Amino acid sequence: MSDPHPITGRHFASPVPPGTGWPGDPATAATPVAVDAADVGRLAASASLDELQARSSVCRACPRLVSWRESVATLGRRASFADQPYWGRPVPTFGDDAATLLIVGLAPAANGANRTGRMFTGDRSGDWLYAALFRAGLANQATATHAGDGLALRDLRITATVRCAPPDNKPSTLEKATCSSWLDRELTLITPRLRGILALGAIGWDATLSAARRLGWSVPRPKPRFGHGAEAELGTGDRAVRLFGSYHVSQQNTFTGKLTEQMLDDVLQRLRDH
Ligand code: SF4
Repeated sequence: MSDPHPITGRHFASPVPPGTGWPGDPATAATPVAVDAADVGRLAASASLDELQARSSVCRACPRLVSWRESVATLGRRASFADQPYWGRPVPTFGDDAATLLIVGLAPAANGANRTGRMFTGDRSGDWLYAALFRAGLANQATATHAGDGLALRDLRITATVRCAPPDNKPSTLEKATCSSWLDRELTLITPRLRGILALGAIGWDATLSAARRLGWSVPRPKPRFGHGAEAELGTGDRAVRLFGSYHVSQQNTFTGKLTEQMLDDVLQRLRDH
């Protein structure tokens, strides 16, 4: 069974087979597939940025998450998206290859990025985030509906602690550890240009600090505490990368007013201008 992509009209099976023309799909049918943590470590360690994107987008190293992302993509679709193809694969990093800024989120949403194949695209969290990025001049448009909608980021990349949608948005400790090799490699490859990181939520904050320690960066002691507007200076050897914290753009936070547009605008401005 296949369904038409909402932008291109091209038909896709769900999950989307690699290299079949999905907008922004970095992989091909020949991209090597990681099936366990050791594979992730090995395939990440040798990857260029393009290879990292491709290899992470076909990863099958976490059995529980593979099963969940694919079951949502087939039998578990939200009724309003039932006639759309679902990406159903790990979601690669999105943004500018030459960026000096990085956002680290938690994980793709089951009916958001797991459907559209692009970080924070197709749900309320993404509506919030991309509208704010547009106001900050870091995105060329305020909306993000589907891969192929023309959205581009300026000087910014967006990635996640865990690249597959987890049940209840809760990845396990083992899943976070397994996926960390992709994040470590991402940071290693972009470090020469990197000057700022925004962690969305405590999990993104902790994942970034753990990655920094594994990569041998200097991290303040005691460990910097997460909070909205928190800041820490990380040393990569020859220069500093500034880490900022923001409450996550989850509906739980935005609906309740725990995170307001102004709060998000303020922290994005600091990320951009520091
Ligand atoms: S969460 Fe990360 S390591 Fe686990 S299957 Fe997805 S991409 Fe692979």
